[in-house]
Amino acid sequence: MNIKWLSIASGVILLGFVFILSANKFNVFGEQKNEASLRARYDQLFNLKDYGKAYDEFILGSAKTNLSRDKFITDQTEAKNQRKNEDIVSESYKINKVVISGDIGYIDRTLIYCKDASCKLQEYSRDYKKWVYENNHWYYSTETPACIRDTAYNNPPELARAISLIFQRYTETYGKDKIEDFSKCIYADYSPLSEEAIFVFDSKVSSPDKLVIHVSNSYKSYDDLTIALLLSHEITHAGQFLTYWSDNKSQNCFTDEAKAFLDQFFFTRSLNSEEQKSILLRMGTYRSNQQIEMLSEMTPIGQQAYNQCNNGFSECYVNTFQAKLESWLKTVPYYQKECGN
Ligand SMILES: [Zn+2]
Repeated sequence: MNIKWLSIASGVILLGFVFILSANKFNVFGEQKNEASLRARYDQLFNLKDYGKAYDEFILGSAKTNLSRDKFITDQTEAKNQRKNEDIVSESYKINKVVISGDIGYIDRTLIYCKDASCKLQEYSRDYKKWVYENNHWYYSTETPACIRDTAYNNPPELARAISLIFQRYTETYGKDKIEDFSKCIYADYSPLSEEAIFVFDSKVSSPDKLVIHVSNSYKSYDDLTIALLLSHEITHAGQFLTYWSDNKSQNCFTDEAKAFLDQFFFTRSLNSEEQKSILLRMGTYRSNQQIEMLSEMTPIGQQAYNQCNNGFSECYVNTFQAKLESWLKTVPYYQKECGN
């Protein structure tokens, strides 16, 4: 090869080398599937102010079926204006954990909203963000799942059946988009308890990945429906734990208890007609079971709320029922002690 050809050949090689370098810089070939690349993609999306570009380059293809580009831009703009209206001057994020499972990546992140320049006044919002690795890139699925476990815990079979029934009936009644199914994160076992069951609020024991419910040993001999009634109350507490994990806002013990009883009562409305008849029959004739007894005590309270709200199932009915339950619980010694009053 003469000198001329050699210089042309090396020029081509050099150009190729520069191209590879630029391609990497501009991400033409995508990124590797690992935690560092997912963190980097999240950071790029977080700092991107062009919502159209965010949609085009970061949103998962399958998520776009139910989310148009215009809708995405409108939603993002509205959220931005909302933050402005709430006097949020700046926001940042902190990644607590990244979990990669196959082509799925979950980012546990906390958004920190500053309400003054020095950020002494803060608000939080914590979620799991689900990303998917596809065609050599990480894409945001727009999903924020409450539970990221692939499999359920090995709970005692009758507790597992009750948990499954609760989420099945809720979903059938209220719709998949309204009910967040976190059943795979519920860890339930039997314990020698003085109470019927407890959800453990202590964050050293429970976490979003392990929502711990203890059930009294005495329930081992009960039927599935009674256990489901009992667990519907504790599952509301598990949901309250997840909400607290997400927004870090202080809770009111009596309000949380009233809500748990209300959900327990409404769970019976989600049951099928034969299941409802079974409960109604037992409320009339056989009340040795504490769960049926509680429903019987709540029924006249619900009736009062119903009458007070012009005999209709409405927001007024739900709020009045809950307020009445709260007043009632404040008179019960167990809850006075439990709620510290
Ligand atoms: Zn409770």
